Amino acid sequence: MSEVRVRFAPSPTGVLHLGGARTALFNYLFARHTGGKFLLRIEDTDRERSTDESTQAIIDAMNWLGMHHDEEIVYQSKRIDAHREALDTLIAQKSVYKCYCTAEDRNKAREKAEAEGGSYIHRCDCRDMETEKEEAFVWRFRMPKEGETVFDDIVQGTITTANREIEDLVVARQDGSPLYNFVVVVDDAFQRVTHVVRGKDHLTNTPKQIQIYQALGLPVPKFAHLPLILGLSKRLRSAGVESYRDQGYLASGLNNYISRLGWSHGDQEIFTFAEIIEKFDLKDVNRSEGSLDMQKMEWVNQQHLQNCDGAMLAELVVPFLAKEGIVVNAADGKLLAAVETMRARAKTLVELAQNMKFYFVADDQLEFDEKARAKFYTETAVTYLQEMAENLAEVSEWTEEAISENVNTYIAQKGIKLKDVAQPSRVALVGRAAGPGLWETMAVLGKESSLKRLTQAKSE
Ligand code: GLU
Repeated sequence: MSEVRVRFAPSPTGVLHLGGARTALFNYLFARHTGGKFLLRIEDTDRERSTDESTQAIIDAMNWLGMHHDEEIVYQSKRIDAHREALDTLIAQKSVYKCYCTAEDRNKAREKAEAEGGSYIHRCDCRDMETEKEEAFVWRFRMPKEGETVFDDIVQGTITTANREIEDLVVARQDGSPLYNFVVVVDDAFQRVTHVVRGKDHLTNTPKQIQIYQALGLPVPKFAHLPLILGLSKRLRSAGVESYRDQGYLASGLNNYISRLGWSHGDQEIFTFAEIIEKFDLKDVNRSEGSLDMQKMEWVNQQHLQNCDGAMLAELVVPFLAKEGIVVNAADGKLLAAVETMRARAKTLVELAQNMKFYFVADDQLEFDEKARAKFYTETAVTYLQEMAENLAEVSEWTEEAISENVNTYIAQKGIKLKDVAQPSRVALVGRAAGPGLWETMAVLGKESSLKRLTQAKSE
């Protein structure tokens, strides 16, 4: 196979939502898996709807996900001359004709077709008109009336369309400004795209595009139309990748989750990015539609939080801690230790930051779960905590082992059980009755803070 060249071709009219990210990802994976090129083309010919902010948001989201493109970005709006040249070729060889039909004419034709029980396929007398009119027109493609357009879609199988079912589509406006199905062909050919990988919503465009390739004498690429993603509520549909980043998803977790919307590799659920690249093949993309499942997405992310390298996780959680008002350096030893005690319980970085905030707040600023405090701060328990603190003050080397030995000696002398002090201590140290193990909590918190928090406990 010659070098694979695929492209992601977003229209910069909004954010990069999960559907778009999945299309970009499958193109990226296929390119990296085959050692080919992953190209980016910004389809910004619609000047009214396209914005620079949207282009930037798409590029930022792709960078965050680690989908770095090869070669220079192609901006469709900068290729007007090439589009005009291709249109001139079509005009010269009479592959297009001027169509003077008005919106009213088209509506009438549509109503007639529907009344006859068919669907509207534009065919009009303009196609065979001998003389030109001095009226407004558009350039329509002269679709063959006979025969079929056939292509083997890598995902959808063989797709056969009778040419009489394909309309004479508009390829350009009177001023020569080109429309999607035409311009996409010219630009894919320019970028020497070998495989067009895009959503199934474009499937009906493909026979039209193949006809245009053939009319222009250009090589027809291979096609892979990806299954649609279902279960997207309007809110989820419009949410951009960056909103998942802000909710505390890891790029590796999100990539893992969206890669599975249409692709699988045996029963394996969790993949590193490198593993997906290694295992991904367009041939393994299935036809059945994928459904968005937020619980699954969280679960996948949680697995990635578990597997993430500690130093990297510490770095990732820093901005989320900052949002909680905690300023800490990513290389801080306490942060690294704190991450290790908390990562198992968090599904997102937001949760991780919230759960571990207690380690970093000033001792007298610790927020309490009032119910837990009322329940566990009995007069007796508070006395235990004071005595525990007095004993712990003697510990010289503040390690989990030394802490546990000291507390165990205390409860043995007192003739009480660990459970009599465990929850009250946790409330005093963490602010709530849930948290990591007592010894590790104190070890990470440090001696000074631990003693301060134990002694500041007061019964209500
Ligand atoms: N700009 C088109 C879109 O965003 C690209 C379609 C294609 O990949 O051909 O849907």
